[in-house]
Amino acid sequence: MKVLVINAGSSSLKYQLIDPATEEVFAKGLCERIGIGGHLKHTPLNGKPVFDEDIDLPTHNEAIAAVLDKMTSEAYGVVASMKEIDAVGHRVVHGGESFASSVLITDEVMKAIEDCIPFAPLHNPANLTGINACTEVMGKDVPQVAVFDTSFHQTMPAKAYTYAIPHEYYDNDKIRRYGFHGTSHRYVSGRAAEMLGKPIEELKLISCHMGNGSSICAIEGGKSVDTSMGFTPLVGLPMGTRCGQLDTGAVQFIMNKYGFNIDEMLNILNKKSGVLGISGVSSDFRDLDNAAADGNDRAALALDVFNYWVAKTVGGYTAAMNGVDAIIFTAGVGENSASTRAAICEYLGYLGCSVDAEQNSKRGEDLVISTADSKVKLLVIPTNEELMIAMDTAEIVGK
Ligand code: AMP
Repeated sequence: MKVLVINAGSSSLKYQLIDPATEEVFAKGLCERIGIGGHLKHTPLNGKPVFDEDIDLPTHNEAIAAVLDKMTSEAYGVVASMKEIDAVGHRVVHGGESFASSVLITDEVMKAIEDCIPFAPLHNPANLTGINACTEVMGKDVPQVAVFDTSFHQTMPAKAYTYAIPHEYYDNDKIRRYGFHGTSHRYVSGRAAEMLGKPIEELKLISCHMGNGSSICAIEGGKSVDTSMGFTPLVGLPMGTRCGQLDTGAVQFIMNKYGFNIDEMLNILNKKSGVLGISGVSSDFRDLDNAAADGNDRAALALDVFNYWVAKTVGGYTAAMNGVDAIIFTAGVGENSASTRAAICEYLGYLGCSVDAEQNSKRGEDLVISTADSKVKLLVIPTNEELMIAMDTAEIVGK
């Protein structure tokens, strides 16, 4: 089965064509500047050349049409015709409490995703636009599946997702912790169980998704029992540009002193904070490593703050599960930064974590980076949300 995986943003659309059974990727690409010009980068993985040009993309419909055109073309194609694409899998950011797993998209599902727009006002409308564009261009007969960032965390118990504010805001408005990166946490935890050769039902895992956005997830018996992001992806760990946990009183102080309205303040907390805000250098950990090595104290502090938060969240989740069998590092920083992994694991000696320096220096594959006598296995697993979406889509369409 060939599944087209779509991640639609407000002016962008990322895609991959995948066979989930063999894990083969046939093509991938990105449409950008939709509605404000247009650019398509299409990369066939069969040796044909890359298409990378400005083209007119007034709406997502033209973007999908352009992707399919390239995918089936003589020069850049990977399939003979659109008929070879069996299904489409969409990343959808927020499923609220309505979706605890991936689903076949129907009119009712579209309505429920629409109902979640207040929870993710930037993302869910874009995801809906992507789904509608596929229906328009590919027709109603091609099945489409929605895979939610939030659904994996719907297994969290009330004690983990409840905010200590008047309960009416949960009862009336569903204000609670939802958590994000669920597709990534689910994918790497499944992979970890395979690597450890144990049924996931018997494992206590902590998954550290550390990229531009970062979150940690406690996974007991294959189910998310706690996670660090909340009602929105703004909280938890300090991230590339997002602030992570912050006292609302400090927000009020800054707004009053500098006369910011709430949108201006949220822009600062989302785009100018995190390790970028602390360091004043960059949100990219490579730049921070270099600056810290050159003696920049604030870059070093930003890295210290990040590592400290990861370590204390891992400690908290170990307590929440009363133990941990393996800790997983994934996403841009988790997969690539040996120094970050080593610095975090320094804090975890009390758990009996011990890093094998040589293993930790390797890259680009599923790795065990703990020593043979480490009490907790330490794993590096490249995440693959697109493959997870394709696998869910194939399973649901197969039924
Ligand atoms: P992601 O959001 O998962 O794509 O991760 C992107 C982030 O990964 C970048 O902003 C960098 O901070 C980080 N990253 C990528 N490669 C490296 C590397 N070799 N060393 C440290 N950080 C890296």
